[in-house]
Amino acid sequence: MNFEQIKLFLYQQEKLPLPGVRRELLIEKMGQLAQQGFDCQKCSGSCCSFENNSMQIDLLQAIDIIDDLKQKNLLTKTLLDKINNSIVQYRLDYNISTKANSLLRKRYTCPFYTHNICGCLLGLEYKPYGCLAFNPNSANQCHSDYQTQCIRDNLFASAEAFANQKLETILKFHFPKKTIPEVVWFVLTKLNGLC
Ligand code: SF4
Ligand code: SF4
Repeated sequence: MNFEQIKLFLYQQEKLPLPGVRRELLIEKMGQLAQQGFDCQKCSGSCCSFENNSMQIDLLQAIDIIDDLKQKNLLTKTLLDKINNSIVQYRLDYNISTKANSLLRKRYTCPFYTHNICGCLLGLEYKPYGCLAFNPNSANQCHSDYQTQCIRDNLFASAEAFANQKLETILKFHFPKKTIPEVVWFVLTKLNGLC
């Protein structure tokens, strides 16, 4: 299957809610905060750089990201190199176990971060859920809105779990949540230019 066939399968055959619908709650919450004056307009985005970013995504969110980049003709060699370089630079594919028998969650500068104010290449309807949920709040501190994220997750849990399961079957690989560049790179590599 190529990328467009995967999209047709997910959205037409399996009736998965569209990317924007699955993010509606988070985008609405972000809008409400912005109306109260809490937005990212004066910030250069330290949450997207290695100082603070350790965002992880599943296969479905990687499909959404690739979809957005494709529609904007941004899947250039320069961007592909940037995605791959971030894996190498931050050794994201090198697992380190912790005492608690889990894997160390690594920090990295996101390859879609443009180092400007509001500097993300991705549209709101395609960004990772965790990125949308991380905003400044009334105490002028940035934090993750776990409550809204949890409501969203519950609303789409079964549809998204089913989609991820199908994607694993299509891509012939079990892929747990990992960093943004790793999952996007994995999908692009598996599709082997069929985007
Ligand atoms: S969430 Fe916070 S750190 Fe991230 S861009 Fe917005 S204001 Fe800056
Ligand atoms: S996807 Fe966008 S908002 Fe999320 S970490 Fe990357 S640059 Fe930041």
